[in-house]
Order: sequence, then structure tokens, then C-alpha cells
Amino acid sequence: MTAPDSKSDKPNLYDMNRDEIATLLKTWGEPVYRARQIVEWMYKHKAASIEDMTTLPKSLRERLAADEQFSSDGQTIKRLFKLPDGQLIESVLMEYDDGRRTACISTQAGCAMGCVFCATGQMGFARNLTSGEIVEQAVQFARELEAQGDRLSNVVLMGMGEPLHNYDHTLHAIRILNDPDGLGIGQRHITMSTVGLVPGIRRFADEGLQAGLAVSLHAATDEERSKLLPINQRYPIADLIEAVKYYIEKTGRRVTFEWALIRGENDTPEQGRQLGMLLRGLLCHVNMIPLNPTGGYDGAPSDPARVAAFQAELEHYRVSSTVRVRRGIDIQAGCGQLKAAVIAKKAVAAEKTARRRGPERAR
Ligand code: SF4
Repeated sequence: MTAPDSKSDKPNLYDMNRDEIATLLKTWGEPVYRARQIVEWMYKHKAASIEDMTTLPKSLRERLAADEQFSSDGQTIKRLFKLPDGQLIESVLMEYDDGRRTACISTQAGCAMGCVFCATGQMGFARNLTSGEIVEQAVQFARELEAQGDRLSNVVLMGMGEPLHNYDHTLHAIRILNDPDGLGIGQRHITMSTVGLVPGIRRFADEGLQAGLAVSLHAATDEERSKLLPINQRYPIADLIEAVKYYIEKTGRRVTFEWALIRGENDTPEQGRQLGMLLRGLLCHVNMIPLNPTGGYDGAPSDPARVAAFQAELEHYRVSSTVRVRRGIDIQAGCGQLKAAVIAKKAVAAEKTARRRGPERAR
């Protein structure tokens, strides 16, 4: 029941769908109809703890509370979650004027992809999240929104990590998020993002889902892209575009390309032209966001005049695009920054404490 790479040896209810919870109850000699009640408490009522599931007998609540890890330790610092093994992950809620409420959630603690401008990439990879840990981030926001009479409408898997590098857990999480017994988020309102793991894109295309796909492209030539995203050396642009075409063919869905605009790097008219030629005629949209600067990378965001010139090149090739305002981690280029900030704060606090304790330490 526990995911192999989770350090917790306790099952997590959010890892399981209703049938799996029923199986667990059966092994405990409990009536299986309780599974429906539990699932209703989890997703309909967004219960914050097992104790809140008041229609369950006390003995079952005690057993569930003793045997499983219901929440991510409950410690959330501005939507920074501390997992049972101490890993920190982050998720962000984005509220749009048109009423959309989008949770941007993480799929890994850290990331192995090493994109140079990304705070998470600069931290390295810690571990995959379980499907329950992925789902819980969305449930947390759904609960907060419901308390305000609002509801979570969309989920994007664009927080920390490369979702297709944690394929099985991410896919199981999508199915639970989509399940009418779960949060009931429509497939078309769930977006998978990737930095370009070509085999993963093809596999995802074959799942028969209607989920969206967002590809972090950031450069239109292999030379430029490999400088920013090391994964491009393994899966060059031509292979990536072929996989995207396959996704479009299988799903009929428009694909989004993410583009972090970096001054003097990938915002030149030449890159705009190359991008226009690459994407012309493809069922796609380009989301451009001026770079979120990170401590470990020198690049700066593009200024408005360059952004406008870049967008004009795309228009010339009839490639639709939007320039968005930076909103926390709403594209990959921003992910990991919240965690980085908290770690930095902790380091400063630890240094202060060490300084205070200086004389003791010297002994
Ligand atoms: S941008 Fe995404 S894929 Fe790249 S290092 Fe950051 S989290 Fe990983």
C-alpha cells in the first residue's frame, strides 16, 4: 500500500481509490460500505482529519488514525508542505478573474532535470512523491476554497519536479483527482506538464485521457535549448515535436508550450522566427512569461519592448500566444522558489543561532 520510495511505512488514504480502501477495510474485517463513507469524507466534505469523520464508528476512526498517514503532517507554511520524512514540497493556488481556481502542484521533492534557471533544478532530486502526496496538495486547496464558498476548478502538475519522471504515481493521482468519488476535476481541467520526456509524452498520449499537455520549450534551436535544459541532449527538439504531434493526433487537444523569456538569451527576433517556423500549423499555443530570476542563475527577465517584438514574430507565422504576468510558480521557470526561500530563511536562522552559541561551541 505504501509507495516503495516513500520513507513512511504507513499507507496514505489519498493513495487509494474507493475499491482499494474497500480492500483495506476487508482485510480489517470491517464492512466494505464504509469505503464510500470514507471517500465522501475525504473529497466531498474535505475532512481535515480522521477524527472529523463522525459517521464512522470510533473504533474504526482510531484504527485508521493509528494505521495511516492522513495528512502531510498538517504543516503548511504558505502552501509549503512538510512530508512525513521531512521533505519539503510546494504548491500554489492561482485565482483568475474568470472564476478559475487552479492548483499548481508538485510531483517530486526536488528534480533531476537540472534546468539551469530553475530553483528546483538547482536543488537536485530527493524523491518521487506518492500519488497520495500529489492528490493531497489539491485537496488542501479544495478544502480552503470550499470554506470560502468557492471550489477548485483546475489542477496543473507544474510545481516541483518532472511529472513524467514519476509517471505511475502521477497518472494514478490524475485518475483519483478525476474520479467522481475523488475531487471530480474534469480531465480537460487537468494539465500534465513536461520538460520534454519524449517516451513519457507518447505513453501519456496512449492513456486515452483528455488531459491537457504543457511542454516547457524555452528555446527553438537545439544549441540554445541544450544550454538551458540538459534533457534536450537526450531528446532533441525534432523528436519532441514529433511526440507532441502524436499527442495531438491521439487526443485532439491543443498543446501549450511554455516559454520563460530571458533577456538577450531566448527573446531575440531570431529565436522568435525559429519558434514561429517550428510551430506553424501545429494545434498549439505559446505561453510566454518573463523569467522569474533565481539565485543560482544570472539570467534576467525580458523587457516589454523585446517581448512585444518576439510576439510579433509569432503572429507573423500565425502561432497564437499570450504574455502572462508572473504568478509564483505558474510556469516551470518559477518552481522551487518558495522552498528555496524557506531553506534560505532556515539557514539564516541557523547561522544566527550558531553565532549566539558561538562561545559554547568553541569549548
Ligand atoms: S523546470 Fe521543471 S523539469 Fe526543469 S528542473 Fe525545474 S522542476 Fe525540474
